[in-house]
Amino acid sequence: MHGGASRDVRMRGFQTRVEVAQLTAWIDARVAPLDTKWIPLDNASERVLAQDITSECTVPGFDRSAMDGYAVRGAETFGADQYTPLEFEMIGEALPGQPYAGRVDAGQAVRIMTGAPVPPGADAVAQAEIAEELSTEKGRVVRLSESVPPGRHVGKRGEDIEAGSVLLRSGRVLRPQDLGVLASIGGSPVPVIRQPCVAILVTGDELLPCGSKPEGYRIVDSNSVMLAALLRRDGVPTVRVELLKDRYEFVKAAVASATEDMILISGGSSVGVEDHAPRVLAELGELLAHGVALRPASPTGLGFLGTRPVFLMPGNPVSCLCAYDLFAGRAARGLGGRSTNLPYSTRTLPLARKIASMVGRVDYVRVQIGDGRVEPLSISGASILSSTTRADGFVIVPSDFEGHAEGESVVVHLYDLQGA
Ligand code: AMP
Ligand code: MG
Repeated sequence: MHGGASRDVRMRGFQTRVEVAQLTAWIDARVAPLDTKWIPLDNASERVLAQDITSECTVPGFDRSAMDGYAVRGAETFGADQYTPLEFEMIGEALPGQPYAGRVDAGQAVRIMTGAPVPPGADAVAQAEIAEELSTEKGRVVRLSESVPPGRHVGKRGEDIEAGSVLLRSGRVLRPQDLGVLASIGGSPVPVIRQPCVAILVTGDELLPCGSKPEGYRIVDSNSVMLAALLRRDGVPTVRVELLKDRYEFVKAAVASATEDMILISGGSSVGVEDHAPRVLAELGELLAHGVALRPASPTGLGFLGTRPVFLMPGNPVSCLCAYDLFAGRAARGLGGRSTNLPYSTRTLPLARKIASMVGRVDYVRVQIGDGRVEPLSISGASILSSTTRADGFVIVPSDFEGHAEGESVVVHLYDLQGA
């Protein structure tokens, strides 16, 4: 146990706080990709490959024409030009999937379409633009007005994929074109990491479900809809949301009966009288950390039910977002076999104003970008969720920094995935 996690800390405050790096290290050490599932290729876009894919086939499995034209013996075309075209006897036709049955001998040509097998004997394709087909008393001939050396316009067997070669590595997030390549080797079904299922248990007597209007002293749950969207972005399509009253028994029953791969408990994670989540987790599983040296989001906790990570997410929406960005998202991506790094693109720009922090604490500072400079948002309260909507991104001030001076370059993580 760490950070006083085993004790009932309600109304006593955090005695010690776990460092962000320590919590991150626990996540990395304890969260492993889920099991493998074989799924049809047409559902596999953006899924994470669970194994290296080695091709059993050669693609193409035959020499094929790269042009519409005429298959010939290239060496026989040398010397052809527009003043002295060379003539070849037309002996047949090759179409994609319908090879010419015979072979091309000296002086002969086969009309061939792109993708059709190059007949035996031929080794080059004269494209239609340099050829003219005509009927003569000797029969159909083709006249070539340029030479085509052996190999010209012929796609060699195996030019795309050699049998035995590793095409895609385990851990790859499959792109649309990867699916095309896998299809070309008959690679369906495909082994992917199972996508995590996540439960979001939202605690708070004051909360109304998303879709309600705030009324009186009751506020609408912001966290679950935000967390679900973040999870979806990170490869978690299945999220179950349950709203709970701040009663120890309810929180305990909900955690005990959750079967998901990961559980996020929103709210009730701090040291108030209603904050049951840390105790529940310690009783049902293990509570590794409760209280993190991070602003906002210090009331974050991490524990496990067996191998399943459970995060205590602060109820304050900004803190909740911060705790997701730094911790829960990392675990969600890790379970799904994705990169645990932050998924945001970054820009490095000078600060318009200084950022104050403290050694020993990480700060998650919402910022705007204007005129190529980074402006920390003055409203930094953890309850002001709209500050994250106004912000272009956030800056992380590392634990060993006292802050950043005006003019200093900082890395901004951009909330818009397309960049700003
Ligand atoms: P808690 O972490 O439960 O002590 O809550 C801290 C603050 O966040 C309180 O002002 C709560 O009303 C607010 N809060 C808690 N949960 C949510 C939620 N799901 N959506 C919006 N605000 C919340
Ligand atoms: Mg609460």
